[in-house]
Amino acid sequence: MALLQISEPGQSTEPHQHKLAAGIDLGTTNSLIATVRSGKAETLADANGKHTVPSVVHYMSDDNFEVGHKAKEQQAIEPGNVISSIKRLMGRGLADMDKIKEFSANQLIESESGMPGVVLDNHVEKNPVEVSSDILRTLAERAEQTLGGELGGVVITVPAYFDEAQRQATKDAAQLAGLKVLRLLNEPTAAAVAYGLDSGSEGIHAIYDLGGGTFDISILRLQKGVFEVLATGGDSALGGDDFDRAIAHYLVEQANVDSDDRRAHQLAMIKARDIKEALTDTDTVEVNFLDWNGQMSRTQIEEIIAPIVDKTLLSCRRTLKDAGIKVDEVDKVVMVGGSTRVPLVREKVEQHFKVPPLTDIDPDKVVAIGAAIQANVLIGNKSDDDMLLLDVIPLSLGVETMGGLAEKIIPRNTPIPIAKAQEFTTFKDGQTAMAIHVVQGERELVEDCRSLARFELRGIPPMVAGAARIKVTYQVDADGLLQVLAEETTSGVKADITVKPSYGLSDDQITNMLQSSFSHAEGDMEARMLREQKVEAARVIEAVSAALNENGKELLSEEEYTAIQSSLEQLNQTSQGDSIEAIENAIEIVEKNSNEFASRRMDASIAKALVGHEVDEI
Ligand code: ADP
Ligand code: MG
Repeated sequence: MALLQISEPGQSTEPHQHKLAAGIDLGTTNSLIATVRSGKAETLADANGKHTVPSVVHYMSDDNFEVGHKAKEQQAIEPGNVISSIKRLMGRGLADMDKIKEFSANQLIESESGMPGVVLDNHVEKNPVEVSSDILRTLAERAEQTLGGELGGVVITVPAYFDEAQRQATKDAAQLAGLKVLRLLNEPTAAAVAYGLDSGSEGIHAIYDLGGGTFDISILRLQKGVFEVLATGGDSALGGDDFDRAIAHYLVEQANVDSDDRRAHQLAMIKARDIKEALTDTDTVEVNFLDWNGQMSRTQIEEIIAPIVDKTLLSCRRTLKDAGIKVDEVDKVVMVGGSTRVPLVREKVEQHFKVPPLTDIDPDKVVAIGAAIQANVLIGNKSDDDMLLLDVIPLSLGVETMGGLAEKIIPRNTPIPIAKAQEFTTFKDGQTAMAIHVVQGERELVEDCRSLARFELRGIPPMVAGAARIKVTYQVDADGLLQVLAEETTSGVKADITVKPSYGLSDDQITNMLQSSFSHAEGDMEARMLREQKVEAARVIEAVSAALNENGKELLSEEEYTAIQSSLEQLNQTSQGDSIEAIENAIEIVEKNSNEFASRRMDASIAKALVGHEVDEI
């Protein structure tokens, strides 16, 4: 199975063959780009020596924008024309938006693509793929300038819990930026790559990633250079921003700010972050916020943020349980994400796992560095032996079965790539089509899971209920993208789709999209023939029933009468289905059964006509 392969460091190919590749950590708060130079992975800085690019875009007009520190400065000046935390909207539909607190309701619209769109004060309208693409382009330009050439490919990291739609949206953003995606890599896995190569240690490791807006915990087993991801968990709405919010709340209270003063609240958030970051290195800071001047201490903010840190530990406990690992079996804890600089976070993580966490590699850079190492291998600058890596799928993938139940085909935490098949059968006699509804999630009821796609397998030969053998195969590639194949094995009829992102499209729209991958013309033709056959069936039923009523009892034995009657019932039932062939067959059976009856009726009517007439007259 699997796998991302990495060879020993320092064995790059000849300089003239060296292809340019980069790893990109496309973060909610900050992004970075890294590359392998002279056998060493390093992040790339801008002209001012800054490595981190805030994932913030300031739009001056539709195609005039700035990304990063400059854009972030504008957040305090004209927040209405600045977009941040766009990663939260990636691959999401408008229906998910009420959970996303960074964007106000009046800022969000449904754009033409079906994606949510962000409308700025200057009327510029952008969807999440476009905004992410602008960030990616800026990063790629930095790399191309530094390296003096075009990038041959990139590895982009995504949170482990990103679903199909979110992964696809990330790929789309890269494509829009003109980048070739070598692979999407889970962020914790990238961190493991960075550390694994450096230390080569063995055992069970926890990757604790607390960024600005997200928390990820992954349990990995490292053995003879092979990483296996045992489990992943976390919270997509928990991070350093929550620290900021809690501290901002305190500031707003101190300064008696009006509850609907949007500008002051924005300022409080920015101030809060500065205070938090400063208190990582010092014990107290002077604070000037609007009318309030005061002092804040580390102990004070630790009290404010402790409940948030505790929430991450709860996630850790749950994920360890998923992995079937006891806390004292964990050998090392890798710290990832800017928020792991907070001393309280380090302390509490150490208390929880009972080992001092690893912080050798800059927690901001570790993901980008791992991605760069991957990119360097995938572009072909390394021979591919040595290290294998397994990723897992974060949420179970299943199919809807009768009664609205979700049947899991690939359970969560299964290593990828993976292909798994399960057999299903028809529900009705003569059923010729099967609706396949692909869902993602852990719950038993389909309505509680996330709907990924619906499509139909058509042209199943009519059989009695339960006779058809429909094999549904789920295949997840190394990027975590899902392809579903449905095949009726006795006839070989198949349908095959790659699950595309829904971007919040309605189910009908998705169905339409997916169905257009099947032949329309053929379908239309069949529909017409089916309608004709149904009309014919109704005609036969009508005619034979009328004849039975007229003189069936006189001309037929009880047995003959019942045989015709039941074949009519069968035809009636078959004609409710949509198999042309089955209806044809049922009509034939009725005709065969009533042949004798028809000729007797003929005889009878001749006899009747003859009554009272002389033979001569005829
Ligand atoms: P993301 O992965 O979400 O983009 P990062 O890993 O870049 O996020 O982390 C950003 C978070 O780290 C922000 O909340 C930021 O305030 C916090 N952070 C960065 N440096 C420090 C620091 N020195 N002390 C405390 N928090 C910090
Ligand atoms: Mg991050």
